[in-house]
Amino acid sequence: MMKKLFKCTICGYVAEGDEAPEICPKCNQGKEKFVELSSEDAEKIYASDRTNSIHAEIILLAEKIAELSKEGIEIKLDPMCVAAFEKAKNEAWVIKQRCKAELAGHMSKGKW
Ligand SMILES: [Zn+2]
Repeated sequence: MMKKLFKCTICGYVAEGDEAPEICPKCNQGKEKFVELSSEDAEKIYASDRTNSIHAEIILLAEKIAELSKEGIEIKLDPMCVAAFEKAKNEAWVIKQRCKAELAGHMSKGKW
């Protein structure tokens, strides 16, 4: 059984529970500022939760690839290696920015 979700109409904070929290943990407004989300909206939030975590994890991995590539470029063993690391660094940038853009899109569509 899915729990109920309540959204703060002032700041957008989403709380999970049987009823709205007494005070919004983000903006300190009272319970009366919360509205219960429809089960359709609640489902959308639960489904996007895992997806957003995956995006966040991929962004971290892409940052790691960029860091490693930079180190490889600095070591400069031979031109082929440097070229491969340059490419990896650029590709990691693309992966990272694509996931970030997707996350930003989710936020603006309330899939958060
Ligand atoms: Zn709030």
